[in-house]
Amino acid sequence: MNQTGTAATIDSHKDVETTVAIIGSGFSGLCMAIQLSRRGRDDFLILEKSHDIGGTWRDNTYPGCACDVPTAIYSYSFEQNPYWSSMWSSQPEIQAYLQRITDKYDLRRKAVFGTEIVAAHWDDAASRWHLRSAEGRTITAQFVVLGVGPLNVPRLPKLNGIESFTGSVFHSAQWDRSADLTGKKVAVIGTGASAIQFVPIIAEQVGQLQLYQRSPAWVLGRKNPTIPKALQKLFAKVPLTRNVFRAVAFGSRSRWPWGSTDTATCISRWNGPPRPTSARASRIRRWRPSSPPTIRSAASACFSPPRTTRPLLGPTLR
Ligand SMILES: Cc1cc2nc3c(=O)[nH]c(=O)nc-3n(C[C@H](O)[C@H](O)[C@H](O)COP(=O)(O)OP(=O)(O)OC[C@H]3O[C@@H](n4cnc5c(N)ncnc54)[C@H](O)[C@@H]3O)c2cc1C
Repeated sequence: MNQTGTAATIDSHKDVETTVAIIGSGFSGLCMAIQLSRRGRDDFLILEKSHDIGGTWRDNTYPGCACDVPTAIYSYSFEQNPYWSSMWSSQPEIQAYLQRITDKYDLRRKAVFGTEIVAAHWDDAASRWHLRSAEGRTITAQFVVLGVGPLNVPRLPKLNGIESFTGSVFHSAQWDRSADLTGKKVAVIGTGASAIQFVPIIAEQVGQLQLYQRSPAWVLGRKNPTIPKALQKLFAKVPLTRNVFRAVAFGSRSRWPWGSTDTATCISRWNGPPRPTSARASRIRRWRPSSPPTIRSAASACFSPPRTTRPLLGPTLR
């Protein structure tokens, strides 16, 4: 790659040529684009199948969607945000952060939205990649950087008879905001990192909730303290203080007792009939070594030892 690079131009109908083609505009793709910009390069394009930046944080809008590591460390080290409102920030706040940074580095002019890359072919003679988009454009690039993410295509299980179900069916990653769950009978399939965030919230709203799980996850209860405005101002004024805060958050996370039986709790299987919302607290049960055998055995069918799976952070364990 030459040092200056020529600006990649975008025409929504024509084939394009660029030095670096970045596929995806989530945290990874944006980071790559920012780092190129910071080095004075303009010869790259961001190819994005959707119509906005953000990836995970654009797509996941379910109730309670938030990161599950402290946001001070779930953000770019070179673009720390002094204004996170709480320790574990919510999806709207994280997406707003990514939008702000995209604008700060003027990356929208480098983004080709609505462009899903479906094929890549390396031309040995020309030493170039030829990428093909779903609508048939060709993008030629010397370098291709994949920032397509691990989780951006929701996995929908094949359920016999689902096509004849007349109610709403949607994946948490494609939350149907038009579906009003108030007073409804709702079944949630799966108890992973997303369910642990939205189940306690919709439990307040629905008429009946059934939660289906295959393997009980390990769950650590946590509080989510707000970061006082005065502290945010200090972080903004004195960068050293937010570096210290970030370092402390990083250090404390690496000491978390993953899987320790002292602090770990376990979501038990839903094994009762549908209950009214007043029983919601019982849906997420604590498991401790001293728990009654009934609760322990509820979790034991697919029991995985504590240190073998990443524990989830449950915001509302009681
Ligand atoms: C609800 C949720 C919460 C999470 N919380 C955390 C957390 O707290 N901590 C943590 O470390 N991780 C978390 N993750 C994992 C998260 O996915 C990563 O942290 C990170 O956001 C991934 O960024 P990415 O840029 O690699 O991928 P993504 O954010 O998935 O972005 C990929 C982008 O590539 C685009 N794309 C994909 N294929 C193509 C194609 N063929 N052509 C063009 N564009 C394409 C997509 O549209 C998308 O915009 C969470 C994930 C989810 C779903």
